[in-house]
Amino acid sequence: QAVMNAPGIKGRKVASLGKKSSRSKEEEEGVMGLIQSIVKKQPEGQQDPFYVMDIGAVVALWEKWASSLPRVRPFYAVKCNPEPAILGALAALGAGFDCASRAEMEAVLSLGVSPDRIVYANPCKAEAHIRYSARAGVDLTTFDSGEEIKKLRKCHPGTAALLRLKAVEDGGARCPLGPKYGALPEEVAPLLEAAREARIDVVGVSFHVGSGASDVAAYRGAIAAARRAFDAAARLGLPKMRVLNVGGGFTAGPQFAAAAAAITDALRSHFPDEPGLVVMAEPGRFFAETAFTLATNIIGKRVRGEVMEYWINDGIYGSMNCILYDHATVTALPLACASNPGNPTCAGMKTHGSTVFGPTCDALDTVLSDHQLPELQVDDWLVFPNMGAYTAAAGSNFNGFSTSAIGTHLACSGPP
Ligand code: PLP
Repeated sequence: QAVMNAPGIKGRKVASLGKKSSRSKEEEEGVMGLIQSIVKKQPEGQQDPFYVMDIGAVVALWEKWASSLPRVRPFYAVKCNPEPAILGALAALGAGFDCASRAEMEAVLSLGVSPDRIVYANPCKAEAHIRYSARAGVDLTTFDSGEEIKKLRKCHPGTAALLRLKAVEDGGARCPLGPKYGALPEEVAPLLEAAREARIDVVGVSFHVGSGASDVAAYRGAIAAARRAFDAAARLGLPKMRVLNVGGGFTAGPQFAAAAAAITDALRSHFPDEPGLVVMAEPGRFFAETAFTLATNIIGKRVRGEVMEYWINDGIYGSMNCILYDHATVTALPLACASNPGNPTCAGMKTHGSTVFGPTCDALDTVLSDHQLPELQVDDWLVFPNMGAYTAAAGSNFNGFSTSAIGTHLACSGPP
């Protein structure tokens, strides 16, 4: 109930999904049925793309996190998807937030979240944004250079700071972050000394093994490196470090159990007997990816021999920028099949190698190539599941197709 009353959700229409006699047939059929009913109700000639966010999926992920990593407090990475409904749901559940900029801090604070639930986790910040964090009372940030310490001294001398380490990164991560961020092992002691001179309180360390990590051993290696940094601080006679931020990189699939086990095991080995240690994380993809489904309309078609070509009203410059920037693979399902319980996968239907283009005039704007689809018509709908992470958040307005104008409908799957 607290989630349904959360800012970002309260006052918006929420469809209840799943089996219950009082629900409409479409709602009983879940997200796809709901999309079908939204499409049916759209006014003639207005087939704009839209998202459906399943609040029940976010709550289930929260429970999964809490049972697998009870010692690790999640600070949701707002950059992954700043839709107010996911921020509101996670705020109501008790999450903290990882913000990278003034606008992200403002978005979270406007939901009534107190500033002590925010980590300003951008190791290189503009002075104006640091000054804003000081005024707003956001008193925990990250750094990985001497220049950043000088800016903190100048603009927010009272902040606590986490030294971002260059993690033993997962080489197979979808988006490695190591080339850009993190102190090298030999830089750790000099940076701690520089912070001491500037009277910046370094309360712990952070790292990020890379977004979309696939090798959970990376967490083990990074936690071992964190231990070495804690020991370096102790050797320098600094106050005992008390915060370990294990960053993001988590996915909601079966691999999460392995990542959670690796972290739990590494904490036991490298930080035994430290009950006062605060362990936090900055998951983005874990909470957002599977909770959002995108519905797009087919606005054009061309038949080239055996190949079917379709144009849809969202693309590489919009939600599907994830194909370029997040190295994502997207999947499209015709709504007519996905919402048909008798044949949800279009099984048995003749399919064609199909190309799906986005709406802009750039040939790069190609969403899928040689994708098997049954023959579709202009005005049919293509649905893309698992579209919550690094999608709309990084889309543009190129060619006048506004990503930020794509609306989000709310639904809640739950017990029947
Ligand atoms: N924290 C920081 C500092 C990041 O840069 C990112 C992603 O770029 C995240 C957290 C979220 O990572 P993920 O979505 O892989 O959990």
